[in-house]
Amino acid sequence: MELYSGYINNLIEQFAKLPGVGSKSAQRLALHVINMPKEHVEKFANVMIEARNNIHYCDTCYTLTDKTTCPICANPGRDHSTIMVVENIRDMAAYEKTGKFEGVYHVLHGAISPMLGVGPNDIKLKELVKRLEGDVKEVIIATNSSLEGETTAMYISKLIKPAGVRVTRIASGVPVGGDLECIDEMTLLRALEGRKEI
Ligand code: ZN
Repeated sequence: MELYSGYINNLIEQFAKLPGVGSKSAQRLALHVINMPKEHVEKFANVMIEARNNIHYCDTCYTLTDKTTCPICANPGRDHSTIMVVENIRDMAAYEKTGKFEGVYHVLHGAISPMLGVGPNDIKLKELVKRLEGDVKEVIIATNSSLEGETTAMYISKLIKPAGVRVTRIASGVPVGGDLECIDEMTLLRALEGRKEI
């Protein structure tokens, strides 16, 4: 854009790369940052850098944490023999927000999608199988009810059933193609309570 100088254009371009930010919002955010006190901008930038540098995957469930093991996996009060498998951290957060699930999680970081070229090795499946070497009684598959989510659920079921672990799938009170994070707590809890063996 010729209206602004190079620095502002650069900033607008960076904001526009963020999910859900269109060119108008990017412009608004960039101009907002320019008008912020310098020390606030510095603090904001540093918080981003620190978060990026210090946050990594939990060594057990693969959620994001700044510890080796996340607070949920490190909590002896949780039921470590029940693992809920989710596609992403936002879905995990949605279930955790209900405060009713006492087990632990496993974050796949994606779902199997032959169309998008995402295979079983591209998500954290080997890592899930490894966890079954421990004392695991039930794996609750809470992937989305999209085609990819269902494909992943079936794949996991076939993969781990021979290990003698109970495999359940959350009920489909969840709308087809619905993102778990967008669904209210009651629906999530009903889906969890109505889970079935697969
Ligand atoms: Zn963890």
